[in-house]
Amino acid sequence: MSERLALHGGTPVRSSMLPYGQQTIGPEDEAAVLGALRSGWLTTGPAVPRFEQSFARYVGASEAVAVANGTAALHAAYAALGIGPGDTVLVPAITFAATANCVVHAGARPVFVDVDADTLLIDPASAWERLTPSTGAIAAVDFGGQPAPYGQLAEIAVPRGVHIVADAAHALGATLAGGRVGTLADLSTFSLHPVKHVTAGEGGVITTENVELAERMRRFRNHGISRDFRAREAEATWEYEIAELGWNYRITDLQCALAEAQLGRVDAWLARRREIAAAYTLAFADLPGVTPLAVRPDAGHAWHLYVIRLDAELIRADRRTVFRALRAEGIGVNVHYMPIHLHPYYRKHFGTVPGECPVAEAMYERILTLPLFPAMSEADVQDVVTAVRKVTTGL
Ligand SMILES: *Cc1c(COP(=O)(O)O)cnc(C)c1O
Repeated sequence: MSERLALHGGTPVRSSMLPYGQQTIGPEDEAAVLGALRSGWLTTGPAVPRFEQSFARYVGASEAVAVANGTAALHAAYAALGIGPGDTVLVPAITFAATANCVVHAGARPVFVDVDADTLLIDPASAWERLTPSTGAIAAVDFGGQPAPYGQLAEIAVPRGVHIVADAAHALGATLAGGRVGTLADLSTFSLHPVKHVTAGEGGVITTENVELAERMRRFRNHGISRDFRAREAEATWEYEIAELGWNYRITDLQCALAEAQLGRVDAWLARRREIAAAYTLAFADLPGVTPLAVRPDAGHAWHLYVIRLDAELIRADRRTVFRALRAEGIGVNVHYMPIHLHPYYRKHFGTVPGECPVAEAMYERILTLPLFPAMSEADVQDVVTAVRKVTTGL
C-alpha cells in the first residue's frame, strides 16, 4: 500500500515549500555592499571595472562588460555584432524569453530551431536546415548549465561569417572539452539574477576576446556616449559624443560589490550543485517513468537546473498532475521552458505555429525542474527524492 499523496489529502513530505532556486547571502556579501555604499560611488564607480576584471579572469576571457541584467547583456551583444533589420537570428525553441525578445529589440527576426530530445540543447542539424543568407547569428543556449554543441555550431557558422552568441545565463563555471564557457563564442552573456550561480540582485555580463566589441558594448550601456562620467572627470572635460544610439543599461557599484563577493565562492557552490545533481541521478536511476536529461561526456556541467523527463504512461499521470502533486508535497518544482514559438506574441507578430519545432514541443509536455541550489541541505535533497518517488509511484 503506497502512502496517501498530499494532493489527495495525505500528509505532505514537507510542511514548507522548498523553492527550485535561491541565492546564498553571507556576511562577506553584506560587508561588500556596505563598503560600496560608503565608498562615495553608487554607480559608474571603481567597483564596476574591478568586478569586470574578476569576472573576466574567472571565465578566462580577456574582456567582461557588466550591465543592468542578463537581458541587457543579450541586447548589447546582438547590437554590438550589428544584428538589425533584415537579419535573422537562430534561437533554440526551448529557452528563456530574453534570448528571442532581444533579437526583436535589435530590430531583427528570430527563427526558432529545434532541440535535442536528450539534452534540450540546440540541434545543429535543425540549425543547418534553417540557416539562410540572412542569418546574422546563432544564439547558443547552455540549457540548464550544460554547454551547447559549440564545435558543431562553429562548423556551420564560421565558414559563412555567422556569429555565435552564447546565452550562458545558466552556465557560469561550465566547460566543454576543457574550454571554459565564456570563451567558446564571439560573445557570451551571463545573468546575475538571484536564481543564477552568482547574484548582484539584478545584473548581467558579456565576455569576449574582442576589445572593439567590448568598447562598443560599454558605449551601448551608457546611451551610446563615448566617455563616461568618471573619464570626463579624470580628463577635466564636459565634452562627450553620442557615437551610436544606446541605452541606460548601467549596473551600480552596489551590485558589482555584491557580485564580486559572490564570485569568490562560485567554485564551492558549483561543487555543491554537482553533488546534489549526482545524488538525484543516482536516486532516479531505477525509478520507472523518470529520466533525467542526458549529460554529454565532454561537458563540465554547471547544473543551474536539474530537469527530468516524465513518461506519462508509466506514471499513469500527465506532467500537469505530477507538477500539482509535487507542489502539494512542498516541492517547488517548475517548468523550463514553454517553447518560445508557441507564445501568443510570436505567433501574432512572427507567424510561428505549432509543429515547427516538434521535438521541443513534445519534450515540453514531459519536463519538470526539481529544486537545486547550493544551500540545500541533505534533508532537502532527501525530501525531493522521497516526494518524486512517492508521487510517480502513487498516482
Ligand atoms: C536568466 C536568463 C536570462 C536573462 O537574465 P536576466 O538577468 O533575468 O535578465 C537570459 N537567458 C536565459 C537562458 C536565462 O535563464
